[in-house]
Amino acid sequence: MSEKKKNKNSALKVNKGIEQPSSFNPDAWNQLKKSRQELLDVDSFVKGILDHNRTILSKAITLVESSLPLHQKIAQEIIEQCLPHSGNSIRIGITGVPGVGKSTFIESLGKYLTNQGNKLAVLAIDPSSERTKGSILGDKTRMEELSVDANAYIRPSPSAGSLGGVARKTKEIIVLCEAAGFDTIFVETVGVGQSETAVHSMVDFFLLLMLAGAGDELQGIKRGIMEMADAIVINKADGDNLQKAKMAKREYSNALHLFPLTDSGWTPMVETCSARDKSGIEEIWDIIKQYQTLTKESGYFFQQRKEQELKIMFETIKANFSESFDNNHIVKSMLPSIENDVLTGKISAYKAAQELLDSYFKNIS
Ligand code: GDP
Repeated sequence: MSEKKKNKNSALKVNKGIEQPSSFNPDAWNQLKKSRQELLDVDSFVKGILDHNRTILSKAITLVESSLPLHQKIAQEIIEQCLPHSGNSIRIGITGVPGVGKSTFIESLGKYLTNQGNKLAVLAIDPSSERTKGSILGDKTRMEELSVDANAYIRPSPSAGSLGGVARKTKEIIVLCEAAGFDTIFVETVGVGQSETAVHSMVDFFLLLMLAGAGDELQGIKRGIMEMADAIVINKADGDNLQKAKMAKREYSNALHLFPLTDSGWTPMVETCSARDKSGIEEIWDIIKQYQTLTKESGYFFQQRKEQELKIMFETIKANFSESFDNNHIVKSMLPSIENDVLTGKISAYKAAQELLDSYFKNIS
């Protein structure tokens, strides 16, 4: 192959004239050495978090997000010790399609709360971040006021791993934030996929932001997500949109009445707001407070949290089991021929699964 052709076909093009950096980066090496030296012991982490030290909280969250076994080990010990100091908060999930106004809403409701002295942590589950390698929810220009508010702490989404993994980490980050004195937790997610269910399983109150007149189809909101909502908030109820928003409020209220009764005994509410003009924000907070009072009185609030813990336990078992099965060398070696047998109709899928499972269990016991 000629040199020219080779270059054309190669994915690895080196632009002429640009000096290539040395493969040994002394700055990165020094940084690594420094970070190893700076890795606090578990007690110092826990003390820092309980002292509401944000720098230490951020470092602990970085450990939770890390996939290095040493970091995970320390992170788990920190979480264990923080657990007894966590839980004293209201956890609110906020979802809606891109452009509905989530960050503007979080900024408005967030400022309303921090002005009253609440300590707010804003976390995010961003399903797109793995694909784009850059978290849209972590964009620094969003939530400009909150990001410099002493009573608020904004942490972008952990950007690596499966949704299940990211969700588990977010749950652990909630524990750390609560131990660090945050009494209000927002978990934001883009309402386009699976992540709502994950968020729903870690919050007390689930808020769905919508727009008037956009049609549910267009908003990509599935009925299942509407059924999960404790409140539907129609945003951008301002200017020419105000009347449409009021009409949508009536329509959604009627639609919600057709949904099955919720386990909490709470009837989901519909409200309008303008996150931009900061109108309707107080009313929405009132709804959340009403929910909290009702469900705490009935005990549902605490029951739901316990059930969420159990769910996490079972999901962790399932995830670990499935990973162990996938990585088992006997299973791996059997898989190609068994797959072929299923594809050619030699054995049934059920029998194939049984054979693989039998070999797996024989191999691990
Ligand atoms: P996100 O993608 O859901 O986080 O939405 P953003 O908060 O980034 O808002 C998307 C766009 O809608 C921005 O241009 C906002 O200025 C605008 N927006 C957000 N809230 C309102 C509102 O209450 N009224 C109006 N008119 N525009 C809004």
